[in-house]
Amino acid sequence: MNQSLVHSLLRAVGLVVFGLLLLSPVLVQWPAQDLVPYLQWKLIAAVWFYMLVLSLFRSFWPGLLLLLPAALLVPQEVFYLLTYQKSTDAHALAIVAETDLNEALGYLTGIGLFLALAVVAIVLLWWYLLCSAWQGRWQWEKGLRPVIWLICIGVVASLSWNEWQYQQINKAKQRSNPEENVFVQRPLPYSYEKFHATYPLNMLIAVNEFVKQKQAVADIAESTALFKFSALQTDAPAQRQIYVLVIGETLRPDRLQLNGYNRATTPRLSGTKNLISYTNMVSPWAWTRMSVPVILSRKSATDQRYFPTETSVVAAFKEAGFSTAWLSTQSPLGVHDSSIALHASEADQVQYLNPVGYKKEGFYDDILLPAFERVLQQNQQKQLIVVHTLGSHFSYADRYPPAFDLFTPSGKGQSISMHDRSSSLLLNNAYDNSVAYTDFILFNLIKQLEQTDSISSLFYVSDHGENIFDGQCNKSGHGHNTERDYRVAALLWISELYNLQYPQKKSYAEQRREQPLMTSNVFHSLLDLAGIEYPDQKLTKSWVSPQWRPSSRILQQGLDFDLAKRDPVSAELTP
Ligand SMILES: [Zn+2]
Repeated sequence: MNQSLVHSLLRAVGLVVFGLLLLSPVLVQWPAQDLVPYLQWKLIAAVWFYMLVLSLFRSFWPGLLLLLPAALLVPQEVFYLLTYQKSTDAHALAIVAETDLNEALGYLTGIGLFLALAVVAIVLLWWYLLCSAWQGRWQWEKGLRPVIWLICIGVVASLSWNEWQYQQINKAKQRSNPEENVFVQRPLPYSYEKFHATYPLNMLIAVNEFVKQKQAVADIAESTALFKFSALQTDAPAQRQIYVLVIGETLRPDRLQLNGYNRATTPRLSGTKNLISYTNMVSPWAWTRMSVPVILSRKSATDQRYFPTETSVVAAFKEAGFSTAWLSTQSPLGVHDSSIALHASEADQVQYLNPVGYKKEGFYDDILLPAFERVLQQNQQKQLIVVHTLGSHFSYADRYPPAFDLFTPSGKGQSISMHDRSSSLLLNNAYDNSVAYTDFILFNLIKQLEQTDSISSLFYVSDHGENIFDGQCNKSGHGHNTERDYRVAALLWISELYNLQYPQKKSYAEQRREQPLMTSNVFHSLLDLAGIEYPDQKLTKSWVSPQWRPSSRILQQGLDFDLAKRDPVSAELTP
């Protein structure tokens, strides 16, 4: 075989391999069914996009140059897809952007070398093709590029038309301020629906979403930055102090063995000393993005605005001289998370540890334990640590490792719909397993705190409850306006040294275990627990204060939780 034939063959093979490489994030999503939408919105769309880039210039080499970033990101995209069954989105970008790189790249653990080798191989292949295109003067045939452009114009026109129609049918609700629109405006554009899993278009969409949401959060943060509580800890004890707030997810109080549930869902906490379970606490909201800000700040239960007008308990502790940290397995951005992330950003250090978020299995909450340990080891004299967990967020079976598959069958590893009543047994078992796993997480956080020998406390509260086809009720999930939506698990652990320092507060904390409490009491009680004072403090709202008074528990829609009527089957609340 003569040499030039070998060269042409090599180049042809090189081009095919490079093409397959660029398409591999789409090819690995080859579906078992629904082939037509896959071809239309993924495979053909990706091919079309690459063709468009290549056709920008008559010579091939500038197009090849432009395709390098897409080629370089292929290995991580394929890895992410195969591991988490999810394309890179704004969440993934935010994890990398928000968290220090070592933590953020935790999800690549063990395959760093493989990725590096893959990148080297890609660069070599790309360089070979680029040189070949340059030396061989590879060019488009005359007249071919306008055909690609014409098809492109046609596709864009048809997309725009569909987008317009889609917007007419799915009218987005306009909020009072532009920042809210960025997050709350749903549905997402038609193009997002169609291309969010089409590499490399998903990357462009993710960057666009990330920049837009980031900007909106920055605008809001700027508007609350000047706010001050003027909080002070006047009588600071000499010993080290550590206050921990754990924000739970979807945990019902009636599913805790501690509270009389007939399954061993809290075997560790049940044997833990100095632990108080509040059995009558209510959250005014059943959606994370609205309920968590009420826990953290003075935002009133009936305030319907998405974003806060003042800072949270994090900033108040900071004002009082505490070093503050926020550890989370939830997301740093997105419609469900940005109202919370805004308060997280008040902390001195923020770590988002889960590369996937709640939609897939991702990392379990135990990733928080070593991170918590690292924060404790910083050995600060005064610390506030907020831990935001994924707890029992659906899908329940995705929230705990196989060793915690205690109540079976749980459907772990299968895709179980939360709306399928016939899966009720599986859902309930999986839910209880996730509770048992939360017991493990909390127990270990407390154990770590105990070892610091400090004046410390850990307060745990869930953001809302859950319905799981209870009795004859057909409801599943949260946000149904039922009693089970609003009742939340809440626990307070106090160290021996705390007890010695503030025996009165401890005694009040114990006395109020069955009192009617709301998550809007948390802000006031946490500051009071730490002996932090500020000018317009309302101690009537702190259940560790002698001044505490029960008040009517008004929910987000204005209903009084205690006076509202209950539907006998679903426990749905009505006036
Ligand atoms: Zn939630």
